[in-house]
Amino acid sequence: MATFTVHQGKRYRAKRAELHPWSAGLPADIINCACRDFGDGWSRYKSGQNERPSFPERRDGGHFGIPGGWMKPELDADGKVKLRVPVLGGRRRQMGLVRSKEAMRLDLGVITQSTISESATGRWYVAFQVTRDRPLPNHGCRAPIIGIDLGLHTFAVIAYGIDGRIEEVHAPMPLLAAQEQLKALQRSQRRQRGSWDNEHQCHRPEGCSQRWIRRNGQVKRLHERVAAKRRDELEKFTTDLVGRAEVIVIEDLNVSGMMHNHCLAGRVMDAGMGTWRTRLEAKCRWHGTRLVVIDRFYPSTQTCHRCGHRRRGTDKLTLSERTFTCPACGLVMPRDHNSAREIVYEGLRTMGGTPMRRAEVPGTDAVTREPAPPAVIEAAGGGN
Ligand SMILES: [Zn+2]
Repeated sequence: MATFTVHQGKRYRAKRAELHPWSAGLPADIINCACRDFGDGWSRYKSGQNERPSFPERRDGGHFGIPGGWMKPELDADGKVKLRVPVLGGRRRQMGLVRSKEAMRLDLGVITQSTISESATGRWYVAFQVTRDRPLPNHGCRAPIIGIDLGLHTFAVIAYGIDGRIEEVHAPMPLLAAQEQLKALQRSQRRQRGSWDNEHQCHRPEGCSQRWIRRNGQVKRLHERVAAKRRDELEKFTTDLVGRAEVIVIEDLNVSGMMHNHCLAGRVMDAGMGTWRTRLEAKCRWHGTRLVVIDRFYPSTQTCHRCGHRRRGTDKLTLSERTFTCPACGLVMPRDHNSAREIVYEGLRTMGGTPMRRAEVPGTDAVTREPAPPAVIEAAGGGN
């Protein structure tokens, strides 16, 4: 398992008082949780899953884990939720009561671990890790297969089968929505006296003003709200998606590559495209939904889903063209709709099937496919 083994944990605890005297009052279970998390991070790094573990940034807030049955939410007499949390620095397992601001879903199941974290704005959060059955989000009947085309124009276009209905989902873009508010705050903050002296290009020895600090807190809180909104929307959308179909086909988008393009980066980040993929993968695993990822270089936008004609070279669809027209079968369709259906087709093929395009099904609208032009072999050296 972890590289930071039980044995190493024991060795660390033996030397703890000497290495980190500040941790003397901490309960051993909290130290154990930290050791386990560290070992976990290290083994993820070794397997190539994560970055190398490093010291957390102080400005991002800190967090610590608490073992299983320690912390339990309790209902107050007046229906408010209270949490029994460990009082640090006191005797071992001394607990104090803290009122929770959020109404809790108390059917938590068995709590295996809880994590207390502080955000950059100084708010405290508790996350519970629980073991429980996960009911499939209810959608009545699940479709056999859906294909999802992600884009910046429309966040997601969902095609139900090669020939089924099409659904468009727009990304909420919370940062874009908060842009005006953010601008006003930052403009006002520029008028306050910050710690950086722009005139002399140095830090002010007397520090920043109280107004600047207050405004800074407001900016941070707005950013936190934007991030929370984005996360909430993404969680809801991905949960909803896995309940819709038995098989979900997506494209392998190069999100980190898109982040390098400064024209796209802001919108890719605001839509949460990278997180979307990881959340969808996790939820597909939980609910037994098959996730098929098609090749990054498959030309789904350039291929006609009805007859399979592929537009190449100078005939290629440019980014500004929003409509796909097929020169072979005459199909006219919004660009994203065609590519979502093509993704379904490619997904079926990747799974080892031999799917039929609409143009190939006998009895459907006939397609007049132009015969391929005969290959012209130029005689070499026959100049005249
Ligand atoms: Zn076509």
